[in-house]
Amino acid sequence: MPAAPRSGRLVAYRKRPLTSFNDFGLVEPITRALRDEKYETPTPIQAQTIPLALASRDVIGIAQTGTGKTAAFALPILHHIVRKRLRPERKACRVLVLSPTRELSGQISDSFMAYGRYIRPLAVTLAIGGVPINRQIRSMSHGVEVLVATPGRLLDLVDQRAVRLDKVEVLVLDEADRMLDMGFIHDIRKVVAMLPKDRQTLFFSATMPQEITRLADAMLRDPAKVAVTPQATTAERVNQRVILVEKSAKNTLLAEVLKSEKSDRVLVFTRTKHGADKVVRVLEKAGLRAEAIHGNKSQNNRERTLKAFRDGSLRTLIATDIAARGIDVDGVSHVINFDLPNIPESYVHRIGRTARAGAEGVAISFCDHEEAAYLRDIEKLIRMSIPVENRRTGRPQEAHVQRAAPHQHKKHGNGGGKGRNHRNGQRHRSHAEPRNGGGHRPQHAQGNGAPQTAPKGEPTAMQNVTFMREPRRQAGHRAPR
Ligand code: AMP
Repeated sequence: MPAAPRSGRLVAYRKRPLTSFNDFGLVEPITRALRDEKYETPTPIQAQTIPLALASRDVIGIAQTGTGKTAAFALPILHHIVRKRLRPERKACRVLVLSPTRELSGQISDSFMAYGRYIRPLAVTLAIGGVPINRQIRSMSHGVEVLVATPGRLLDLVDQRAVRLDKVEVLVLDEADRMLDMGFIHDIRKVVAMLPKDRQTLFFSATMPQEITRLADAMLRDPAKVAVTPQATTAERVNQRVILVEKSAKNTLLAEVLKSEKSDRVLVFTRTKHGADKVVRVLEKAGLRAEAIHGNKSQNNRERTLKAFRDGSLRTLIATDIAARGIDVDGVSHVINFDLPNIPESYVHRIGRTARAGAEGVAISFCDHEEAAYLRDIEKLIRMSIPVENRRTGRPQEAHVQRAAPHQHKKHGNGGGKGRNHRNGQRHRSHAEPRNGGGHRPQHAQGNGAPQTAPKGEPTAMQNVTFMREPRRQAGHRAPR
């Protein structure tokens, strides 16, 4: 078993001979289930996290959905359950997994059941909102090994004295940054205050903004840190482009793009639930079938829609960031940002929905005048400029939102290329500064007197943009389920 890294040290994934699941010393019922699942090689996050978690270390894992992080925490937890057999106490759970969305929680609970199918007895309960609480109360009455919950519903259950948290041996916090975005931090602190101090904590987040670091500091003891990709990078290959468009023309443009792009599954993001419903109606008028998924839909409706999207009978799914979080659909060929997100990390999460499992994906973003600043924040975060096509009809100076040098697209993170060191940010400044003469980003580009830097004409060709080698492929990930 590899030695555990020292506290706080960031363990970046290096190319090395990949271990097999047999190297971890997991108990036989688990290795048998992994054979059923046809998992042969651990993914990088699994290769790093599993030995640490088996050694009872607290772990901070910086990893996105799609990297295999669920098994990274579920396997050592199940191993622990088998090795230390205890009868769960009434209303208590031995393992608590907190996740931000119903969908993600459902997937996590399914994974525990799949990896634990030969472990008996093993009770896994899902406690999520949007479904009646009584069944959850009943299934907690005799206690369970694993409780997977969203924070709001968990607190409801605790308030109703249906769940007690004083017997938790392992806490998993999944997608911590998303919990922050969704306003769950307060709930999480409340839950953590009810847990025994003497426990193991496994903490996962795609990004580590300051507030998340503070939360981790408060929750973990001497944690080991593992990371499979640098922050804010995601899929291996995403063809990205931006279409500058008037706000009022977005509907027509979407219908046009859906008709012209050769696509299998298209995930369209809107900023609001209302916006998602509106897009569905507009597409229907244009003769295109689409369904929306968001928090106002019933759980049944969401599940039906997701199933249709998964099995290919529904080609276009409209989602808000929150609803899309945790949706595990591998064959998304296109992500369309109908609205640009105001949180740049959300862009990374969104485009990470495509180009999964080694496939190539396309991400097209519509950007109206008011979203110019969002686009620049995104480019700053991903440290690259995105090819642009201008469909705006506005005054010429309005086009200042466009970048100066779309020809500079190049592999991210290779550090090569004279004078284009992406890592130190020079690359980004090279297209950001000349536009507004000082590096300060105006909220709106109209009439700001910025120098016109690039002639507008033919649309820029779509280009391949490589972020990082994708962990799933390195690790021989399975094809989409
Ligand atoms: P996750 O990031 O946990 O959502 O996992 C993403 C997908 O990868 C899921 O469909 C898993 O079933 C699959 N997966 C996880 N680990 C492995 C592995 N070692 N080999 C093949 N597939 C895996």
